[in-house]
Amino acid sequence: MCRCNAARSSRAKGRSGSCLLPQGAKRRGLRGPVLARGRTCRGPSPQCVRLSLTSTMTRFHGYNIQSAPCCGARYRTRRYLSVNFMAGEYWTDGYRERSLMPNDHGLRKCTCGAFFVSSEMVIIDETDTSDLPNPQHVSTDELREAISHPRNSHVELAARLDIWHQLNHAYRAAYRAHRAAEEATSRQAWEAVNPDQRSWIDRLKKRSRVPQYRPSPDRPVTHPQFTPSAQQLENLYALVGLLTKPAHRNDYRLELVELHRELGQFDQATSCLRGIGGREDRFRSLLTTLIRERATAPVRFAY
Ligand SMILES: [Zn+2]
Repeated sequence: MCRCNAARSSRAKGRSGSCLLPQGAKRRGLRGPVLARGRTCRGPSPQCVRLSLTSTMTRFHGYNIQSAPCCGARYRTRRYLSVNFMAGEYWTDGYRERSLMPNDHGLRKCTCGAFFVSSEMVIIDETDTSDLPNPQHVSTDELREAISHPRNSHVELAARLDIWHQLNHAYRAAYRAHRAAEEATSRQAWEAVNPDQRSWIDRLKKRSRVPQYRPSPDRPVTHPQFTPSAQQLENLYALVGLLTKPAHRNDYRLELVELHRELGQFDQATSCLRGIGGREDRFRSLLTTLIRERATAPVRFAY
Protein backbone atom coordinates (compact mmCIF):
# COMPACT_ATOMS: atom_id res chain seq x y z
CA MET A 1 0.00 0.00 0.00
CA CYS A 2 1.35 3.40 -0.92
CA ARG A 3 2.14 5.50 2.17
CA CYS A 4 2.70 8.85 0.54
CA ASN A 5 0.60 11.80 1.62
CA ALA A 6 -1.31 11.88 -1.66
CA ALA A 7 -2.42 8.29 -1.26
CA ARG A 8 -3.14 8.66 2.44
CA SER A 9 -5.18 11.73 1.70
CA SER A 10 -7.19 9.82 -0.90
CA ARG A 11 -7.78 6.97 1.51
CA ALA A 12 -8.95 9.42 4.14
CA LYS A 13 -11.56 10.54 1.63
CA GLY A 14 -12.62 6.98 1.01
CA ARG A 15 -11.08 6.77 -2.42
CA SER A 16 -8.84 4.03 -3.68
CA GLY A 17 -5.68 5.45 -2.18
CA SER A 18 -3.91 5.77 -5.50
CA CYS A 19 -1.55 8.61 -6.26
CA LEU A 20 0.47 9.96 -9.12
CA LEU A 21 3.76 8.63 -7.86
CA PRO A 22 5.68 6.33 -10.18
CA GLN A 23 5.46 2.69 -9.17
CA GLY A 24 9.03 2.59 -7.97
CA ALA A 25 8.42 5.53 -5.68
CA LYS A 26 5.45 3.77 -4.13
CA ARG A 27 7.53 0.72 -3.43
CA ARG A 28 10.26 2.78 -1.81
CA GLY A 29 7.83 4.86 0.22
CA LEU A 30 9.07 8.24 -1.02
CA ARG A 31 12.56 7.28 -0.02
CA GLY A 32 14.61 6.66 -3.09
CA PRO A 33 15.20 6.98 -6.79
CA VAL A 34 12.69 5.62 -9.22
CA LEU A 35 13.83 3.15 -11.79
CA ALA A 36 12.07 2.94 -15.08
CA ARG A 37 12.53 2.03 -18.68
CA GLY A 38 15.91 3.40 -19.55
CA ARG A 39 18.48 3.98 -22.16
CA THR A 40 20.97 1.30 -22.97
CA CYS A 41 23.97 1.21 -20.70
CA ARG A 42 26.91 2.57 -22.62
CA GLY A 43 29.62 1.75 -20.17
CA PRO A 44 31.40 -1.38 -19.11
CA SER A 45 31.14 -0.87 -15.39
CA PRO A 46 28.47 0.11 -12.86
CA GLN A 47 30.05 3.48 -12.27
CA CYS A 48 28.96 4.70 -15.67
CA VAL A 49 25.58 3.04 -15.87
CA ARG A 50 22.98 5.43 -17.14
CA LEU A 51 19.34 4.81 -16.42
CA SER A 52 16.35 6.93 -17.19
CA LEU A 53 14.12 8.37 -14.50
CA THR A 54 10.37 8.50 -14.56
CA SER A 55 9.79 12.14 -13.85
CA THR A 56 6.83 14.32 -13.18
CA MET A 57 6.48 17.76 -11.69
CA THR A 58 6.28 18.13 -7.95
CA ARG A 59 2.85 19.56 -7.24
CA PHE A 60 0.93 20.01 -4.04
CA HIS A 61 -2.33 21.61 -3.06
CA GLY A 62 -3.36 22.58 0.43
CA TYR A 63 -2.48 20.77 3.61
CA ASN A 64 -3.34 17.71 5.61
CA ILE A 65 -3.96 18.36 9.27
CA GLN A 66 -2.28 15.51 11.09
CA SER A 67 -1.86 14.49 14.69
CA ALA A 68 1.40 13.28 16.18
CA PRO A 69 1.41 9.71 17.52
CA CYS A 70 3.17 10.68 20.77
CA CYS A 71 0.89 13.35 22.26
CA GLY A 72 -1.69 14.18 19.62
CA ALA A 73 -0.14 17.54 18.77
CA ARG A 74 -1.46 18.84 15.47
CA TYR A 75 0.66 19.75 12.47
CA ARG A 76 0.10 20.64 8.86
CA THR A 77 1.76 18.75 6.04
CA ARG A 78 1.62 19.42 2.34
CA ARG A 79 -0.80 17.42 0.24
CA TYR A 80 1.34 16.26 -2.64
CA LEU A 81 -0.40 15.51 -5.90
CA SER A 82 2.80 14.34 -7.57
CA VAL A 83 6.47 14.35 -6.75
CA ASN A 84 9.68 14.60 -8.72
CA PHE A 85 12.66 12.50 -7.66
CA MET A 86 15.15 14.12 -10.03
CA ALA A 87 18.48 14.86 -8.39
CA GLY A 88 22.04 15.81 -9.22
CA GLU A 89 23.46 12.49 -8.06
CA TYR A 90 22.06 9.08 -7.21
CA TRP A 91 23.87 6.64 -4.93
CA THR A 92 23.31 2.96 -4.33
CA ASP A 93 22.63 3.55 -0.61
CA GLY A 94 19.61 5.60 -1.66
CA TYR A 95 21.13 9.03 -1.07
CA ARG A 96 20.31 11.72 -3.61
CA GLU A 97 22.44 14.85 -3.93
CA ARG A 98 20.67 18.09 -4.94
CA SER A 99 17.37 16.26 -4.81
CA LEU A 100 14.12 18.00 -5.68
CA MET A 101 12.46 16.12 -2.84
CA PRO A 102 13.52 15.71 0.81
CA ASN A 103 16.15 13.03 1.13
CA ASP A 104 15.53 12.01 4.72
CA HIS A 105 13.51 9.07 6.06
CA GLY A 106 10.63 10.97 7.60
CA LEU A 107 11.98 11.35 11.14
CA ARG A 108 10.46 14.33 12.94
CA LYS A 109 10.59 15.83 16.43
CA CYS A 110 7.40 16.78 18.22
CA THR A 111 7.00 19.86 20.38
CA CYS A 112 6.67 17.46 23.33
CA GLY A 113 10.24 16.31 22.66
CA ALA A 114 9.41 12.86 21.30
CA PHE A 115 10.57 11.61 17.93
CA PHE A 116 8.21 10.07 15.43
CA VAL A 117 8.10 9.09 11.77
CA SER A 118 5.86 10.94 9.33
CA SER A 119 4.04 7.76 8.37
CA GLU A 120 2.89 7.37 12.00
CA MET A 121 0.87 10.57 11.84
CA VAL A 122 -2.88 10.34 11.40
CA ILE A 123 -4.73 12.57 8.97
CA ILE A 124 -7.65 14.22 10.71
CA ASP A 125 -8.59 16.92 8.20
CA GLU A 126 -7.72 18.59 4.91
CA THR A 127 -7.57 22.30 4.29
CA ASP A 128 -6.39 24.81 1.73
CA THR A 129 -4.67 27.00 4.34
CA SER A 130 -3.45 26.44 7.85
CA ASP A 131 -1.49 28.32 10.49
CA LEU A 132 -0.40 25.13 12.22
CA PRO A 133 3.35 24.42 12.28
CA ASN A 134 5.05 21.88 10.08
CA PRO A 135 6.54 18.92 11.94
CA GLN A 136 10.11 19.77 12.86
CA HIS A 137 12.97 18.09 11.01
CA VAL A 138 15.63 16.38 13.11
CA SER A 139 19.13 17.81 13.16
CA THR A 140 22.25 15.71 12.74
CA ASP A 141 23.07 16.10 16.45
CA GLU A 142 19.64 14.79 17.41
CA LEU A 143 19.86 11.56 15.40
CA ARG A 144 21.89 9.80 18.10
CA GLU A 145 19.41 11.02 20.69
CA ALA A 146 16.59 9.54 18.62
CA ILE A 147 18.13 6.06 18.63
CA SER A 148 19.29 6.08 22.26
CA HIS A 149 15.73 5.70 23.58
CA PRO A 150 13.56 5.14 20.49
CA ARG A 151 9.78 5.16 20.87
CA ASN A 152 9.63 2.21 18.51
CA SER A 153 11.64 0.47 15.80
CA HIS A 154 10.31 2.81 13.09
CA VAL A 155 11.97 5.76 14.82
CA GLU A 156 15.25 3.93 15.30
CA LEU A 157 15.20 2.73 11.71
CA ALA A 158 14.59 6.20 10.26
CA ALA A 159 17.36 7.68 12.41
CA ARG A 160 19.83 4.95 11.49
CA LEU A 161 19.03 5.25 7.77
CA ASP A 162 19.74 8.99 8.00
CA ILE A 163 22.98 8.30 9.87
CA TRP A 164 23.95 5.71 7.24
CA HIS A 165 23.73 8.35 4.53
CA GLN A 166 25.55 10.96 6.56
CA LEU A 167 28.42 8.68 7.50
CA ASN A 168 28.89 7.83 3.82
CA HIS A 169 29.27 11.51 2.91
CA ALA A 170 33.02 11.53 3.58
CA TYR A 171 33.45 8.65 1.18
CA ARG A 172 31.27 10.42 -1.39
CA ALA A 173 33.65 13.39 -1.34
CA ALA A 174 36.66 11.11 -1.91
CA TYR A 175 34.77 9.27 -4.65
CA ARG A 176 33.90 12.49 -6.49
CA ALA A 177 37.49 13.72 -6.37
CA HIS A 178 38.82 10.35 -7.52
CA ARG A 179 36.39 10.08 -10.42
CA ALA A 180 36.96 13.70 -11.50
CA ALA A 181 40.71 13.16 -11.62
CA GLU A 182 40.32 9.88 -13.49
CA GLU A 183 37.94 11.45 -15.99
CA ALA A 184 40.31 14.41 -16.51
CA THR A 185 43.12 11.98 -17.31
CA SER A 186 40.90 10.16 -19.80
CA ARG A 187 39.95 13.43 -21.44
CA GLN A 188 43.59 14.52 -21.77
CA ALA A 189 44.47 11.19 -23.37
CA TRP A 190 41.57 11.56 -25.81
CA GLU A 191 42.52 15.13 -26.70
CA ALA A 192 46.12 14.05 -27.34
CA VAL A 193 44.97 11.75 -30.14
CA ASN A 194 42.13 14.00 -31.30
CA PRO A 195 43.76 17.44 -31.54
CA ASP A 196 42.00 20.52 -32.80
CA GLN A 197 43.23 20.60 -36.41
CA ARG A 198 41.19 23.54 -37.67
CA SER A 199 43.00 26.28 -39.54
CA TRP A 200 43.38 29.63 -37.85
CA ILE A 201 40.75 31.18 -40.13
CA ASP A 202 38.28 28.41 -39.35
CA ARG A 203 38.89 28.96 -35.67
CA LEU A 204 38.46 32.69 -36.05
CA LYS A 205 35.21 32.39 -37.96
CA LYS A 206 34.08 29.29 -36.12
CA ARG A 207 33.33 27.63 -39.45
CA SER A 208 33.86 24.10 -38.29
CA ARG A 209 33.27 22.28 -35.08
CA VAL A 210 35.73 21.75 -32.29
CA PRO A 211 36.39 18.02 -31.73
CA GLN A 212 34.05 16.91 -28.99
CA TYR A 213 35.33 14.63 -26.24
CA ARG A 214 33.66 11.24 -26.40
CA PRO A 215 34.27 9.13 -23.29
CA SER A 216 35.43 5.71 -24.34
CA PRO A 217 33.62 2.73 -22.85
CA ASP A 218 37.08 1.23 -22.36
CA ARG A 219 38.41 4.09 -20.24
CA PRO A 220 39.27 3.25 -16.63
CA VAL A 221 36.36 3.70 -14.24
CA THR A 222 37.39 2.98 -10.69
CA HIS A 223 36.57 4.21 -7.23
CA PRO A 224 38.60 4.59 -4.06
CA GLN A 225 38.79 1.94 -1.39
CA PHE A 226 35.82 1.94 0.97
CA THR A 227 36.75 1.21 4.58
CA PRO A 228 33.85 1.76 6.96
CA SER A 229 34.74 3.12 10.39
CA ALA A 230 33.78 1.40 13.66
CA GLN A 231 30.86 3.81 13.91
CA GLN A 232 29.71 2.96 10.41
CA LEU A 233 30.02 -0.78 11.05
CA GLU A 234 27.98 -0.53 14.23
CA ASN A 235 25.26 1.30 12.35
CA LEU A 236 25.35 -1.08 9.36
CA TYR A 237 24.98 -4.16 11.57
CA ALA A 238 22.19 -2.50 13.56
CA LEU A 239 20.35 -1.68 10.33
CA VAL A 240 20.65 -5.25 9.11
CA GLY A 241 19.16 -6.38 12.41
CA LEU A 242 16.27 -3.95 12.08
CA LEU A 243 15.55 -4.73 8.44
CA THR A 244 15.32 -8.45 9.07
CA LYS A 245 12.48 -7.89 11.53
CA PRO A 246 9.03 -8.75 10.16
CA ALA A 247 7.83 -5.16 10.62
CA HIS A 248 10.35 -3.81 8.11
CA ARG A 249 11.40 -6.79 6.02
CA ASN A 250 9.13 -6.08 3.07
CA ASP A 251 9.64 -2.32 2.87
CA TYR A 252 13.42 -2.11 2.65
CA ARG A 253 14.55 -5.06 0.56
CA LEU A 254 16.94 -3.15 -1.67
CA GLU A 255 18.40 -1.34 1.32
CA LEU A 256 19.10 -4.69 2.95
CA VAL A 257 20.91 -5.89 -0.18
CA GLU A 258 23.01 -2.74 -0.15
CA LEU A 259 23.79 -3.06 3.57
CA HIS A 260 25.00 -6.64 3.16
CA ARG A 261 27.10 -5.53 0.19
CA GLU A 262 28.73 -2.66 2.08
CA LEU A 263 29.53 -5.13 4.87
CA GLY A 264 31.13 -7.49 2.37
CA GLN A 265 28.45 -10.12 3.02
CA PHE A 266 28.03 -10.97 -0.63
CA ASP A 267 26.28 -14.33 -0.17
CA GLN A 268 23.64 -12.69 2.01
CA ALA A 269 23.33 -9.81 -0.45
CA THR A 270 22.79 -12.23 -3.33
CA SER A 271 20.24 -14.22 -1.35
CA CYS A 272 18.29 -11.06 -0.44
CA LEU A 273 18.40 -9.84 -4.01
CA ARG A 274 17.07 -13.12 -5.36
CA GLY A 275 14.38 -13.13 -2.69
CA ILE A 276 12.87 -9.92 -4.03
CA GLY A 277 11.48 -11.82 -7.00
CA GLY A 278 9.78 -10.29 -10.01
CA ARG A 279 11.46 -8.86 -13.03
CA GLU A 280 14.94 -7.49 -12.54
CA ASP A 281 15.15 -3.78 -13.21
CA ARG A 282 18.27 -1.80 -13.99
CA PHE A 283 19.03 -0.86 -10.42
CA ARG A 284 18.91 -4.46 -9.33
CA SER A 285 21.11 -5.33 -12.28
CA LEU A 286 23.60 -2.74 -11.04
CA LEU A 287 23.60 -4.29 -7.56
CA THR A 288 24.10 -7.74 -9.10
CA THR A 289 27.16 -6.47 -10.97
CA LEU A 290 28.63 -4.85 -7.87
CA ILE A 291 28.13 -8.03 -5.85
CA ARG A 292 29.76 -10.09 -8.57
CA GLU A 293 32.73 -7.71 -8.57
CA ARG A 294 32.95 -8.02 -4.76
CA ALA A 295 32.63 -4.23 -4.48
CA THR A 296 31.63 -2.87 -1.09
CA ALA A 297 31.65 0.86 -1.79
CA PRO A 298 28.56 2.99 -2.21
CA VAL A 299 28.48 3.80 -5.91
CA ARG A 300 27.26 6.87 -7.73
CA PHE A 301 25.27 6.20 -10.85
CA ALA A 302 23.38 8.24 -13.41
CA TYR A 303 19.97 7.91 -14.97
ZN1 LIG B 1 4.33 14.77 20.90
